[in-house]
Amino acid sequence: MVIVMKPDATQTEIQKVIDRVEAVGLKAQKTVGEQHTIIGVIGDKTKLVNQPIESLQGVDRTMPISAPYKLASRQFRNEPTVVVSNGIKIGGKQLVVMAGPCAVESTEQIVQIAQEIKKSGATFIRGGAFKPRTGPYSFHGFGESALEMLTAAKEETGLGIVTEVMTPREVELVGEYTDIFQLGTRNMQNFYLLREVGKQPKPVILKRGFSSTIEEWLLAAEYILSEGNQNVILCERGIRTFETHTRNTLDLNAIPAIKELSHLPIISDPSHGTGIRDYVAPMSKASIAAGADGLILEVHHDPDNSMTGDGVQSLLPDQFDELMTDLRKLATAIDRSLI
Ligand code: PEP
Ligand code: MN
Repeated sequence: MVIVMKPDATQTEIQKVIDRVEAVGLKAQKTVGEQHTIIGVIGDKTKLVNQPIESLQGVDRTMPISAPYKLASRQFRNEPTVVVSNGIKIGGKQLVVMAGPCAVESTEQIVQIAQEIKKSGATFIRGGAFKPRTGPYSFHGFGESALEMLTAAKEETGLGIVTEVMTPREVELVGEYTDIFQLGTRNMQNFYLLREVGKQPKPVILKRGFSSTIEEWLLAAEYILSEGNQNVILCERGIRTFETHTRNTLDLNAIPAIKELSHLPIISDPSHGTGIRDYVAPMSKASIAAGADGLILEVHHDPDNSMTGDGVQSLLPDQFDELMTDLRKLATAIDRSLI
């Protein structure tokens, strides 16, 4: 349930409503909108049966939320959420492009790629320090030293850092370096990890589980939101279907669906969504045309020698630059913009 306050409700009136909700053992989450302050009530709302919430001073109305996810739903918040990181807005009119290698391989590699993508207009450098791999004998990333390499790339270029965190116990360490946490497809339903990133304020990119429905994905986002962190960015990265020609099937339907069901920003990852370099540019454009707020793309200056298998889906810096030029034209056509 959400409690919608009147546009002229005072801070004292708002606080009284929150106190009343908390007094019966429920959690109250306040969101200040342009017109109304909204208080989300989390927990068993039957506890409020004997509480005359609607007659409290400053309350406009109460609304049940029918979706199983509450804080993530459009019913809870109708205005789009704009997440801000490293001075960049994600979910606003301007499209955001994050790019970089699958894994951080050396300081030289990450600094060079960061310089290239920055020239083309990217605003975040991505790169894995802790890599989830299907097999135990594969390269799993350089860990903390890779986080230091990412910091060198940030210092050199000013780009924000996006990197993956895989376990709750590494949230603190990764958070010392990163601007945005990435939660990978394999961890979308790692509920302990979701709660842990929810307890800290840095933004989280929540990639869709490759076998997860849109509802399960939004419920995963709800875990983060319900712990207090409102800075969640959804990322469509392809799902598993019967099709084997591509690595995954990038589910473009998910983009307008998320826009309808949720206020959270959504970006697209056509690198993992296709697994094929030549398909990345067309599917990037398709994602933006479908309404995505940005892209996360794999770019490598020497993909044939990359340390993960993802070289085959990485754009070369020149291809990335060309794509960015096309995206700029596309952005204008749909009343958005790109640096
Ligand atoms: C990645 O971004 O390199 C990655 C492992 O992504 P995903 O979790 O979507 O497979
Ligand atoms: Mn990858």
